Amino acid sequence: MKKKKTIALVAHDHRKKDMMEWVAYNWKELMPHSLVCTGTTGKLIQETVEKKCHQNDEIPPEVTRLKSGPLGGDQQLGALICEGSVDLLIFFWDPMQPQPHDVDVKALLRIATLYNIPTAPNRSTADFIISSDLFHESYKPILKDYSSYIKREVDL
Ligand code: PGA
Repeated sequence: MKKKKTIALVAHDHRKKDMMEWVAYNWKELMPHSLVCTGTTGKLIQETVEKKCHQNDEIPPEVTRLKSGPLGGDQQLGALICEGSVDLLIFFWDPMQPQPHDVDVKALLRIATLYNIPTAPNRSTADFIISSDLFHESYKPILKDYSSYIKREVDL
């Protein structure tokens, strides 16, 4: 991953307030990076960042908005991770409520783990990621070698 990172941000409804507070606090750190979000999270992040930028005479960064999570946004993010197009995942998922797209949530977390994507499920982890020296540097996550899995023999 390069110095300029693509950061995926997603928050379930009961965690959106947490996410917007975190984004409002860290907007300056986030500015130089590309932000990609599920639909509703992205709309709120765009508003939050634009407000901060207007107050400080800065040009707001572009926020890429995918579909809303329950309508496939988590799967779109998973696909971007598989393609190597996401560097960090800030995903404030709700530990107290079942989601209509629970399977997609699990899939996104699985694929982020598989591709060794730094993933923050809560504010303190997100704080640790954003305050790490590595956040400002290029970094190459080590990927497990799955070539033997691809070449495995399958009984037919
Ligand atoms: P949303 O989706 O940003 O469209 O609310 C988030 C999610 O539920 O995964």
